[in-house]
Amino acid sequence: MNDMPFTSPADFAAAVAPDDTGAPGFWFVFQADRLLVELGPPSPHPSGDLRVPSRPSWARLPLLKNNNPLWFEPARTLYLGRLAGTDCWAAEAPRQAEAPPPGWGWEGLRALFSVLEDAHFALAGRAIQLLDWDRNHRFCGRCGAPTEAKTEERSRACPQCRLAAYPRISPAVMALVRREGEILLGRSPHFPPGMYSALAGFAEPGETLEQCLEREVEEEVGVRVSRIRYFASQPWPFPNSLMIAFVCDWVSGEIRPQAGEIEDAKWFNVLQLPKLPSKISIARRLIDSVVGEMQAKHA
Ligand SMILES: [Zn+2]
Repeated sequence: MNDMPFTSPADFAAAVAPDDTGAPGFWFVFQADRLLVELGPPSPHPSGDLRVPSRPSWARLPLLKNNNPLWFEPARTLYLGRLAGTDCWAAEAPRQAEAPPPGWGWEGLRALFSVLEDAHFALAGRAIQLLDWDRNHRFCGRCGAPTEAKTEERSRACPQCRLAAYPRISPAVMALVRREGEILLGRSPHFPPGMYSALAGFAEPGETLEQCLEREVEEEVGVRVSRIRYFASQPWPFPNSLMIAFVCDWVSGEIRPQAGEIEDAKWFNVLQLPKLPSKISIARRLIDSVVGEMQAKHA
């Protein structure tokens, strides 16, 4: 499944330091969680994502010889690597940076899905995670000394106590529970109105992914499952997850939504589904794939 959004492009080679070619590179410049892009007028078409009220009709990354054409001094700059031979850089704009020049703007990543070129969109997800990590590890978590960026690998090291900090990725399991002609979907209180999705939760220390899935499903909806089958995985930069998706079968238990976590959960007939997450997420890919198989079987 190569077309999963946020998947590293095949022609991207990650690196920590440039070869110093001096050629123009792509710049992934973020102010908080929004990316600097040159952008067209709002698209007349609906976005297909309940979280995105409108999106630009087109958007392009800045291609700069270095960061000099930026109108502010970046708070931090990281080299990402090369995309088909072109250098890629990440930079963070300070919050007080002045507004971009005409024709340019700051856009959230969700609004840029299917607008920005896929490879650039994926690398924007990588860039924001690395900028976050770099900002959050300026000081050693053990002794408090300022850390230093390593030049031979992506890490920050403490010169006092030698503790090394690597970019953190939090594995999260997604579970689509099925039984005869139906799938179990739930909604968390912060979902857009009417939207339901597969269940998900973070793995805990000491758990396998399968154990995590069984625990999460039982905690969130009070249901027991079996026959856990791997579907696919997706890097998910909101803020630093790796989503690992599975399908599984209901064994026993009636739905009992976990207070505070799950606002509602139901069995949905595969022919009558509610509003679903957009195709930006593995949740939608998982649901579409499983529903497609189930419909084919019952056709
Ligand atoms: Zn230290």
